[in-house]
Amino acid sequence: MSKQFDVIVIGGGPGGYIAAIRASQLGFNVACIDEWKNSKGGSALGGTCTNIGCIPSKAMLQSSEYFDQASHHFVDHGIEVKGLSLDIAKMLGRKDAVVKQNNDGIVYLFKKNKVTFFHARASFVAARDGAYDIKVAGSVEETISGKHIIVATGSNARALPGTPFDEENILSNDGALRIGAVPQKLGVIGSGVIGLEMGSVWRRLGAEVTILEGLPTFLGAVDQQIAKEAHKAFTKQGLKIELGVKVGEIKNGKKGVSVAYVNARNEAQTLEVDKLIVSIGRTANTIGLNPEAVGLGLDERGAIVVDGECKTNLPNVWAVGDVVRGPMLAHKAEDEGVAVAERIAGQHGHVNFNTVPWVIYTSPEIAWVGQNEEQLKTAGHAYKAGTFPFMANGRARALGDTTGMVKMLADAATDEILGVHIVGPLASELIAECVMAMEFRASSEDIARICHAHPSLSEATKEAALAVEKRTLNF
Ligand code: FAD
Repeated sequence: MSKQFDVIVIGGGPGGYIAAIRASQLGFNVACIDEWKNSKGGSALGGTCTNIGCIPSKAMLQSSEYFDQASHHFVDHGIEVKGLSLDIAKMLGRKDAVVKQNNDGIVYLFKKNKVTFFHARASFVAARDGAYDIKVAGSVEETISGKHIIVATGSNARALPGTPFDEENILSNDGALRIGAVPQKLGVIGSGVIGLEMGSVWRRLGAEVTILEGLPTFLGAVDQQIAKEAHKAFTKQGLKIELGVKVGEIKNGKKGVSVAYVNARNEAQTLEVDKLIVSIGRTANTIGLNPEAVGLGLDERGAIVVDGECKTNLPNVWAVGDVVRGPMLAHKAEDEGVAVAERIAGQHGHVNFNTVPWVIYTSPEIAWVGQNEEQLKTAGHAYKAGTFPFMANGRARALGDTTGMVKMLADAATDEILGVHIVGPLASELIAECVMAMEFRASSEDIARICHAHPSLSEATKEAALAVEKRTLNF
């Protein structure tokens, strides 16, 4: 008889491994199947996020930021660095070690929580007797059976039509995190989160970086006051960003890549680069899952169709994370994983999509939660806005990093916070207070009255809250 489980999770990224742990905590007999292979062919739990996404990109952003600081900014602090050099192999090795720590951490967590792990590809076989048969194809092949299935198979980088990734010259996020020597000229297609983060890494390490963006607006999903401030900062750092371009033929030769494009003024241009990163979005991944075997519903883009509770069209089959609708963010995947495990246990798992924070880990960082000014205007929602620049924040001055601002938007009548938008130092950390405030449905006055440590960057959030009522104390 095949092995029976209460819950089988397919995919060991942040959506899947967290769902498996939570389901196990709730008393279920849980299996998780993940096929990711490390360079030696072994398992590497954690999915895109841990292996070629969130974690390695942040490791490289940190290393490159230190290099940039040492090259250009230590001198402002009276620290002179002579003979500064770069060991890319060591930097990449450190990044790989950070990834491995995270892979190993999940193995430990599975052992601790008694989750049975299969390093294998999973595919649906059939629905049978109120359960689902799942083929597990790894070093051995077997079929296991689960009452509940949680699909968390993630997403893949989208290639430009006719221009496949070779990960040598034409790079997805995977190759972009493994470039062995700093390219003299680097092209990036797409100025979204990944394009900006990867472009920043290699710019800081010395590459001449040009980003080509098809849309006419920079960071169109971001509050435009914040986006403009970020654009100014990136341009000053030397990132060349061309908006409103139409990319044409891409030639991948021995000496590099040439990209033909038409710019916003309708002029034909060619960009010659050593390497090209293509970051034009990601597509839901169901490769090899065999959803047809059980009639699992996909939409026209290949994402698994789910309702607000992550239920698919099949009883007891759930799907979470990048493979379903909604923002492709690790913490959204994790929260959906927890909520689904709790729903299976008869509890009321819940994900509040209005308070999912977004972060771009550039320098300055960009972070936001809730609605932006453009969205409120379009919705005809009456609001008050308060902004506070880091230029007027003592801690930011001491850090030597005064770019940017905190912007708070609150309901004109009730003062409830509707959104907070930050561009500046450690925006990724500052946003947590704002997420919590919105979860508790705080007013801007609540934040304005809370004691914030001095000197701290968080005082800029308090001052932005004071600015909503036009009563800043330090500006
Ligand atoms: P994934 O992490 O993609 O995991 C899916 C797993 O399922 C993989 O291990 C895959 O091998 C496995 N799998 C797929 N099919 C099968 C099968 N049939 N059988 C067995 N296993 C299978 N998000 C953030 O929130 N913050 C960030 O800073 C951030 N930075 C990013 C940087 C980059 C460069 C990239 C590319 C992404 C970044 N993201 C970030 C997005 C984040 O990585 C994803 O949102 C997140 O990984 C989605 O989690 P998931 O569990 O849905 O899928």
